[in-house]
Amino acid sequence: MPTPDFYIEGTPYYKALIAPNNENVPYLTMVPQYIVIHETENYDPRADAWMHNKFVRNGGGSANVSFTYAVDDKRIVQNLKLNQVGWQAGDGFYGKGNRRGISIEMCEQRGSSRSQTEKNTQALVRYLLKKFPNIEVYHVEPHKSFSSYGKNCPSNLLPRWDSFINGIQKGPSSVVAGAWFVKEGDDGDRVEDLQKKLRKLGYTLKIDGSFGPETDEVFREFQEDIGITVDGSFGPNSQKAMDKALREPRDLGGNYKGKVIRIIYKKSDGINIYRTPDWEANPYHAYKYGETRDILGKYLVDGSEMFKIRGSDGDVYWITAAEKYVEVKDKGVYEMAVNKENTGFVDVEEGAYYAEAVKFLAEEDILSGIGNDEFGSDDVLRRKDFAIALYRYAKQEDEITYDLAIEWVKEQGIMSGYPNGDFGGTDPLRRRDFAVALYRYAKSL
Ligand SMILES: [Zn+2]
Repeated sequence: MPTPDFYIEGTPYYKALIAPNNENVPYLTMVPQYIVIHETENYDPRADAWMHNKFVRNGGGSANVSFTYAVDDKRIVQNLKLNQVGWQAGDGFYGKGNRRGISIEMCEQRGSSRSQTEKNTQALVRYLLKKFPNIEVYHVEPHKSFSSYGKNCPSNLLPRWDSFINGIQKGPSSVVAGAWFVKEGDDGDRVEDLQKKLRKLGYTLKIDGSFGPETDEVFREFQEDIGITVDGSFGPNSQKAMDKALREPRDLGGNYKGKVIRIIYKKSDGINIYRTPDWEANPYHAYKYGETRDILGKYLVDGSEMFKIRGSDGDVYWITAAEKYVEVKDKGVYEMAVNKENTGFVDVEEGAYYAEAVKFLAEEDILSGIGNDEFGSDDVLRRKDFAIALYRYAKQEDEITYDLAIEWVKEQGIMSGYPNGDFGGTDPLRRRDFAVALYRYAKSL
């Protein structure tokens, strides 16, 4: 019998690593983020951890399966290095389970003690969590979580999964990397980390590494807000919920209807916009000084504020809400001022398809606005508007009055008015009347 390399909580640990020249040797490396738990489903009395180690070394069957550990009721056997990718999770070449998971096969050979095998596995998981502080306890997952076809593995353990995880947490504290259950009365780095995360989520509290009444109150508020059991205890459920909350933008409320952001940052690199509320995403584009966009809302994203905006293409984008880069303006007032400056009319936006035409007609004194610096872009043309416009266009005269224009169109036989004698100047100009009028005018030239 080989000698154990060491013991984990009394259980012998053997390293029997797959040789570099083995055809089943994993060729990819990883930084592990998950621990994937399996059961062998092999009840042959000989199918212990050694036999499964041999299975990996012999090529891992037709599917070239490989897993990091085999554990039975007497021992832990390591098959792969901890940074070697094993093919075991059934989630494909790029799957997180395969590419980021340290895997453990729990052996189930007849005659072995299932409860001892589970205890040994829990001890091994504790050891790994201590070795890899970046692996959170809720990233200890059953194979089923990853399997793309939902393989029911570990089938015997799954109905008791929560108690299995709880058992991991109840292990001897000497082997646990700090306690990841923190509650009132605790202090240290984990408490400080928790306080920082709460602050990032928008809660107000001191960051002092001490889980006192204030932290307890705020933490319970968080648990309530997020809809999980309010027990004041920061365990895996809270951790999972917090992780999710930190990734998701939090709506800060506020009424931004009719508001725009305007870029006030003057350097040529502009201000980045993002497709998703994620500061670390690749920027989609940058907005330059003076650009404005409709605001859809303000959100807290990983501790900093972002505006959700409507891009010029109509899609949703995200941009910093920092006051040194962007300012919030009242859309109506702001846009009207800009429009007036650009086109002469508050309701004609520079660049609109009709802007050049409107400017031309106004400059040539053919068709002016409706007062108050409005062109009346959305209004329907009235009969007298057309009469005046045509008169001005045809006569090119400075002295123009409404009466002169009406008289002229009647005289020319362009527009005759209604049978009762009214001209109907304020009525909308129907398309058929427009056609007739323009036709008659053209013929008269
Ligand atoms: Zn499995």
